[in-house]
Amino acid sequence: MDASRESDTSRHFLRQWIEEDHAAGRTGGTVVTRFPPEPNGYIHIGHAKAVCVDFGMAKLFGGECHLRLDDTNPAKESDEYAENIKNDIRWLGWQWSGAGDGVEPGFYNASNMFDTMYQIAENLIKAGQAYCCNLTQDEWKEYRGVPEKPGRPSPSRDTDPERNLRIFREMRDGKYADGEWCLRAKIDMASPNIHFRDPVIYRIRHVSHYHLGDKWCIYPMYDFAHPIEDALEGVTHSMCTLEFEVHRPLYDWVVDRMDEQGLLVVRNGVKIRPQQREFARLNITWTVMSKRLLLQLVTEGHVAGWDDPRMPTVCGMRRRGFTPGAIREFCDRVGVTKVESESDPALLEWCVREELNRTALRRMAVLDPVKLLIENFEGTRDVELPNNPLDEAAGTRKVPFSKEVWIDRADFMEVPEKKFFRLAPDREVRLRGACIVKCTGVDKDADGKITAIRCTWDEGSWGGNASDGRKVKGTIHWVDAATGVKAEVRLYDRLFTVPDPLQDGSDQFLKYLNPDSLKTVTAYVEPALAACAPGERFQFERTGYFVADAKDSAPGAPVFNRTVTLKDGYKPA
Ligand code: ATP
Ligand code: MG
Repeated sequence: MDASRESDTSRHFLRQWIEEDHAAGRTGGTVVTRFPPEPNGYIHIGHAKAVCVDFGMAKLFGGECHLRLDDTNPAKESDEYAENIKNDIRWLGWQWSGAGDGVEPGFYNASNMFDTMYQIAENLIKAGQAYCCNLTQDEWKEYRGVPEKPGRPSPSRDTDPERNLRIFREMRDGKYADGEWCLRAKIDMASPNIHFRDPVIYRIRHVSHYHLGDKWCIYPMYDFAHPIEDALEGVTHSMCTLEFEVHRPLYDWVVDRMDEQGLLVVRNGVKIRPQQREFARLNITWTVMSKRLLLQLVTEGHVAGWDDPRMPTVCGMRRRGFTPGAIREFCDRVGVTKVESESDPALLEWCVREELNRTALRRMAVLDPVKLLIENFEGTRDVELPNNPLDEAAGTRKVPFSKEVWIDRADFMEVPEKKFFRLAPDREVRLRGACIVKCTGVDKDADGKITAIRCTWDEGSWGGNASDGRKVKGTIHWVDAATGVKAEVRLYDRLFTVPDPLQDGSDQFLKYLNPDSLKTVTAYVEPALAACAPGERFQFERTGYFVADAKDSAPGAPVFNRTVTLKDGYKPA
């Protein structure tokens, strides 16, 4: 990797912030970060960015990164999502560490902290720092007002603690319907930051939780729960996306209250005060990333599932053949900033190509086959080809060759254009690694479609060079018809036709679905590919990078997904 570039992106402001705290002894000797996904969907490339920042910073300072499922919002959460999130993070190359809450090291469920959260809320009520409020949501918004003008106090703002405690316990015990009462922190109705105007910290939700069932019918709000989770776990540095910046004073307020209540973790004699900082989210053009919209694509059947190779999800990218290393490299190159920007998926694809060019085995596959009959060729011969010209250790393979081979239709033109150097009537072309052939004619069906191309081979050209030294410019790939294997190949393109599918609002994005985002073809591939392992990646020579589909590929009947084409014009800045 280019060292100057690395120093630009990795010495970002978050790193400096952590470095200073750590040096000043504020971490108690261990930098602790966390990645806190909500188990209500699969993680996508944006989450992968946060994963790289959270786990990457912990690693850099020899600390811990916790995986915390932020399961404080009972609707829409499930174990299926939870398991897949874990799987995807491990696949990206990261492992959580730290004490954990009893299930496994480094792993936490926010819902395991509900008892403590509830206790903290009661303590706030007793200290006159929180009160129960029965304004309707509309009234509550109206009372809260606008930043330019102080808001109005709720009529319940000065209720005495005993009555508040009684109502809060009744809320907990299920006496009220959703929305009838809520618990609010008593902070400042005149603050220019409206998140500080007595925010709601607990609400009533009569919904079963995927782990705790009906134990609770009140649930903590994110702004209350998150700092508590961080503090209880001894997290030192809590990194999140920019939209939470305005919530930071509230985060600090909750941490201060926990400090008053004696609940902060002490590590090596140092009281750990978690701190929040924000960085710009990753935005990518030509796709959507909100979990709600991704879920809609899945449930309405616009894609084949969360792991459809066109999805920006980690499992979709894996099935597409992207590598964890390329995804991490992409996140690194995008860098950590405080300014929102849009990234081009072409950069990610470039990172994928860079890696696969170094590592993927070369194979021949003909995606749009037409038969080439070599009329004067006798018997069978083997061609020995390198598995990867950039890596001698990858070795070579033998590819059988005989008088009938498949070639790609696009490598033949009956009436060749200018600068077309491949096969055409009376012209010569080299069959990769084998020999030089000259076209002698074509067979056509009743509609005039070419059904076979006829040729003869130059018997002095075995290996690919003419014995008289004449130059043959074009080289094309081929697959022996007698031994080639039929394979389904899925050619993926962008899921949307415009860079910003949300340009007309999130209810309009479906009209920009690309009708040609998936094309399935029947190809012929060289025999070595019959035995490939699901998930194995290849470069199909002259065509692109492909992966054996992890679900549908079977021994003898491989299915390949196009990961990326071989080249596009893209060069990173
Ligand atoms: P979405 O908005 O896509 O539905 P979310 O933010 O609700 O996602 P969470 O599960 O709450 O999803 O996110 C877990 C972590 O991932 C959070 O810390 C969040 O800030 C971070 N994250 C989510 N999307 C992005 C993104 N596009 N870029 C960087 N970080 C992100
Ligand atoms: Mg969220």
